[in-house]
Amino acid sequence: MAADPKYIFVVGGVMSGIGKGVASSAIGRILKSKGFKVTAIKIDPYINVDAGTMNPTEHGEVFVLEDGYETDQDMGNYERFLGETLPSINYMTTGRVYQEVIRRERNLEYKGRNVQVVPDVPLEVIRRIQEAQRVAGAEITLIEVGGTIGEYENILFLEAARMLKHKFPKDVAIVMLSYLPIPGNIGEMKTKPTQHASRELNSVGLQADIILARAQVPLDDKRKEKIALFCNVSPERVISAPDVSSIYDVPLNYEKDGLGDTLCDVLGLPKRPTDLSEWEAFVQKSKNGTKELKIAVVGKYFETGAFVLADSYISVLESLKHAAYAQDAKLKISYLDSEVYETDASKLSELKNFDGVLVPGGFGSRGVEGIIAAINFARENKVPYFGLCYGMQLLVIEYARNKAGLAGATTAEINKDAAHPVIDIMPDQKDKMLKADYGGTMRLGTYPCALKEGTVAQAAYGKKEIAERHRHRYEVNPEYIKKIEDAGLVFSGTSPDHTLMEIAELPATEHPFFLGTQFHPEFLSRPLSPHPLFVAFVKACAARS
Ligand code: GLN
Repeated sequence: MAADPKYIFVVGGVMSGIGKGVASSAIGRILKSKGFKVTAIKIDPYINVDAGTMNPTEHGEVFVLEDGYETDQDMGNYERFLGETLPSINYMTTGRVYQEVIRRERNLEYKGRNVQVVPDVPLEVIRRIQEAQRVAGAEITLIEVGGTIGEYENILFLEAARMLKHKFPKDVAIVMLSYLPIPGNIGEMKTKPTQHASRELNSVGLQADIILARAQVPLDDKRKEKIALFCNVSPERVISAPDVSSIYDVPLNYEKDGLGDTLCDVLGLPKRPTDLSEWEAFVQKSKNGTKELKIAVVGKYFETGAFVLADSYISVLESLKHAAYAQDAKLKISYLDSEVYETDASKLSELKNFDGVLVPGGFGSRGVEGIIAAINFARENKVPYFGLCYGMQLLVIEYARNKAGLAGATTAEINKDAAHPVIDIMPDQKDKMLKADYGGTMRLGTYPCALKEGTVAQAAYGKKEIAERHRHRYEVNPEYIKKIEDAGLVFSGTSPDHTLMEIAELPATEHPFFLGTQFHPEFLSRPLSPHPLFVAFVKACAARS
């Protein structure tokens, strides 16, 4: 008989933004490296039913799952660290949970009884957790509870953890990620906030089994003993989690403090050796890079700092890293505001100093003319260019305007009455927009794509058919395909029935790399298996540098 499934809840103490997603991902990687079947769930306490309706400059990237569910960027971290494809049941928000409880109430599934916040909401949370476990056939299910202990917002999710632990006391572990500040004027690491967080956790009926102690530096024994005594754990269950230069160091650091075996201990699992050798080799390689590649990410940027932007494009950045490390290169990314090019075209020449230009996905009209000017510069000056989703649509617009004689070509997203809408709304999207039916209604998730023989894309993938994840409402207007192709742009990837243009490129004889994808390849890159198109782009950048 298979052993009972195990559950690990990861909760945050003291403050947010200390890397709970990476911590959960790293725990997952360690347990997977011990040979366990692992899956990971993210709980976001907000009311939004999914992350698709949130502004990425506020909330970070929207990560699209294979089945099309629009989720939080942490799901991307899980997929990258675990090397697993996760389904939508592995992501929930307060809105999603309530939506289901209300749906069932309306369907009389509660058989006329009084449906209550407690226990019915936590029970629905538990049902989803167990369903995700069952779908994955997971021996260990990680559940990251968003927010910080002590907030109102996540209390029902902590109650779900308590109820599950009450039912299966031996099969549920609680890991608290805490933070130990070192105030500048004192110069000493303080444990008090962690003690308070631990008590706050106790007040909702939970006791941390393991404390991950985030701090600038590793913890000394004295600090570990103090936390152990006041937070009610043994000192070996206090794990150092010092600041790191790369998130990929985190599993290796945790293992230095024996986290994997400690978790097995807590959950009554057999101790098995951890084989992180492949991971270690990747981390080594990521640090050995000699050649520096300067890549410009061009877009519409508001008053957001580079930190926020990095969060909005996290999968793009990680994909660039995976590809660069595989080429023994390191990256220097600059975010360039395209609006500058709209008022001062002479600024475009700064793009010459870069080894490559990338335009990520986006929406709306702001900064678009500047992006098109940047794409035009990259094409004419033979700077490698990679466009993702909107970045592909704008590539097509640039080419249509300047090579296919379609003056004023644009996307219907910006101008519905344009003379040449070379990018147009997809027929099935029109109705949704009229009804203001925005949530979860784009063309989402994985679709197949056929590749044309002898193209840059086909050479990069080394196969004829691929499948990639999408998130868009607009497409290359079928009425203009012939005209644009006649002008020299190659649609090297299309839907298998050839109706939808999925990849646009210039032949390798004409440009070192000028390619855009309607899909988002960044969702499929993994540290140990970089995405073929990112590899091809980075190789072109390296050749230029
Ligand atoms: N705004 C474009 C569309 O909806 C591109 C979307 C994107 O870049 N994800 O089609």
